[in-house]
Amino acid sequence: MYAGLTNTPCCLCGREETSTRIAVPPRALTLLRNGEPIAWRDVVGPVTIRFCADDWSVVRDLAIRMDTHPLSRCNAAYASFDLREDHEALLSATKEATDQTALEERLASRATETLDAVDDPYTEERDVVEAIVVLRALEELGVWDADAPADAGR
Ligand SMILES: [Zn+2]
Repeated sequence: MYAGLTNTPCCLCGREETSTRIAVPPRALTLLRNGEPIAWRDVVGPVTIRFCADDWSVVRDLAIRMDTHPLSRCNAAYASFDLREDHEALLSATKEATDQTALEERLASRATETLDAVDDPYTEERDVVEAIVVLRALEELGVWDADAPADAGR
């Protein structure tokens, strides 16, 4: 499998020292800057994006205070993910693209559980921010509906 970048910089400013990382579904790459050329359907597993300490505080405020995500300002070139190798993609060229629905449902249900436990003292702020980013992104992509999570994307 092709592994993207190993040392992933901050996706907002490109700084190499990062403090926090979150995982988002591959389809969310389409919301990122420079994300259009990436074959997100061929991504295996979640996409990781990292933030430096300064930018993390902005992202945290955006998520927790404004209930929104920063993805349109994140550079997809700084995202980390695994792509199926070319020959795997060729072999499966006649098949349908990788179904991302199961992963999206898993991330969405984990995010929902996190937000349900937001008042639990053991719930970490990082997890809450990640949950908000994941759910708002999936909503924007039209594959998750807060009112009907069990029927996401159907
Ligand atoms: Zn930064």
